[in-house]
Amino acid sequence: MIIKLKPNYDLESEKRLMDFIAEKHCTIKDVSSDKVRIFGVIGDTLKIDKSEVYAFDCVLDVIRVLAPYKKTSREFKASDTVIDLGDGITIGGSVHTVIAGPCSVETPEQMDQAGAALKASGIHLLRGGAYKPRTSPYSFQGLGEEGLQLMRKTADKYGLKVISEIPSVDLIPQFLKYVDIIQVGARNMQNFHLLKALGKLSTPIFLKRGMSATIEEWLMSAEYIINGGNEQVILCERGIRTFETYTRNTLDINAVLAAKELSHLPVFVDPSHATGRTSMIAPLAQAALVVGAHGQMIEIHPDPEKALSDGAQSLNFDQFETLMQGLNQLASATGKALQ
Ligand code: PEP
Ligand code: MN
Repeated sequence: MIIKLKPNYDLESEKRLMDFIAEKHCTIKDVSSDKVRIFGVIGDTLKIDKSEVYAFDCVLDVIRVLAPYKKTSREFKASDTVIDLGDGITIGGSVHTVIAGPCSVETPEQMDQAGAALKASGIHLLRGGAYKPRTSPYSFQGLGEEGLQLMRKTADKYGLKVISEIPSVDLIPQFLKYVDIIQVGARNMQNFHLLKALGKLSTPIFLKRGMSATIEEWLMSAEYIINGGNEQVILCERGIRTFETYTRNTLDINAVLAAKELSHLPVFVDPSHATGRTSMIAPLAQAALVVGAHGQMIEIHPDPEKALSDGAQSLNFDQFETLMQGLNQLASATGKALQ
């Protein structure tokens, strides 16, 4: 951390700042010139909040040198994290993984059809919401545990892995019975109590970016999970809120590159929630592959017009097959392994 003092700074304030840094068990390296007073703070500076430093009247500027999301950063681990789900299925590194399934688990027939469609497309990961975070309390809220049971049953029949969104800490034991990956939704990205609890597990966590979260806030949320001991975190860019209203959200494709530069974790894209429009999903799925995402999550439904949630952004199975054909062609043209 580098601290620059104001011109004509107050010596008493500087003295109090030095005491504060000493109390944090850090040391000072003076790099001042005859014009400006600048010094580096050396030691475990993650324990020092920038706002605590700015509280001293003498301080003009504070610059962090190390990322505040230490264990999530590339500085901490240079190589890509690869997550092993068993049965030869991995996430991250050189593989591009497609996760697909309905927004909500609805009926045994719907899930069976989805499972068969995934199997036919050579996909190994089935998504589906059992506890839905809906804006309106009058909208379909999900089947709860019955939904998780249905997903597990379908996945076992077709040899798939299951991913589903967890709404709260109390449901962790239930999720551990049925799922292979636990999803943290955009609305819960900064539910720090939940993140800490998930940090104690060994199950991989799929962490969606909050709809108004900066990249740094997103990586700080990953840090909560990793700092708890669970290093198996997958990041997912799912579109952010902007001033644009034509699409549901705006896919921040920059964020995929940024997250890959800054972090060693696998980075996914969710073109379904990012756009809310079926016509845009396949082209953005291709963009995600080309830009180097480690995978993506796509919503599909046997009959989108009858879907109980997110029908407008759910591909039917024919559209999904076409998307997969396009992705497969692009993967072989660019030498990427699609899974
Ligand atoms: C979902 O994946 O169904 C979902 C609700 O996503 P998000 O948290 O990105 O809105
Ligand atoms: Mn959805």
